[in-house]
Amino acid sequence: MNDAQFASMVRTAYADNPSVPEKHPLRTVACPPLTRFPAGVTEGWTAEEQSHTQACAYCQKVTAMVWKEQPPPWGTMASYIADPELCPELRAFQIYVGSKGRRYYGLVRQFVEASSTRGLLGEALKAALEHTAGFFTPLPVPETALATATEDASSFELAKTFPDLGVSITLTNAPTGNLTVSLSADRRYGGRNVQVTVFGSGEPLQAGIRLNMGDSGAHGRHVFGPAAPLLNRLGLDCLVTASFVDD
Ligand SMILES: [Zn+2]
Repeated sequence: MNDAQFASMVRTAYADNPSVPEKHPLRTVACPPLTRFPAGVTEGWTAEEQSHTQACAYCQKVTAMVWKEQPPPWGTMASYIADPELCPELRAFQIYVGSKGRRYYGLVRQFVEASSTRGLLGEALKAALEHTAGFFTPLPVPETALATATEDASSFELAKTFPDLGVSITLTNAPTGNLTVSLSADRRYGGRNVQVTVFGSGEPLQAGIRLNMGDSGAHGRHVFGPAAPLLNRLGLDCLVTASFVDD
């Protein structure tokens, strides 16, 4: 995306506010170019950029705007929610959760609250996050979920791989009509128990899964049950987490 495209996106986002000027009055000469933001926000700033952007009202607004297109990683959100004092981009986060980010914020907040009831607070939560895989994923609309199990439209497979952890998580609505979570992991996880939680609108789905050694690594799965009522309970999107914290 170049500067002109980004500026066009910003104007589109504020299309209902004709008073938005071409050049934002809060912008300073020290602000990184707009084209730098998507990479800076998602992959990290240089130390010099970071010290400016976290203190600059304009850069915090633009950071929030980037997050509206591409939500912050759920683990980053979790550490922000758990410890707002230490959040370097608190203003951007507040702008983000006040608008389009509210839905994702609600999912991650459930994770943080569930962790705190298990005694995972502060540093313990941060340590646990390093051993927890998770991803946001949209789910089929309930009408689709209510279709009969034999229709292709009701089947789906949502998979995510975490190379750093050596783990893959797959959420499927199998042709049998059952909502299932499957885990594939490095051999080092053989024999381990993994706690999987799916956070959505209603009560989260939870499963303790034991990983058994196979030829190609450690594998485990859990069948939550008939997909249609479970998908209705979860809503339009969810946060899937798998915790590889030592027992
Ligand atoms: Zn700035």
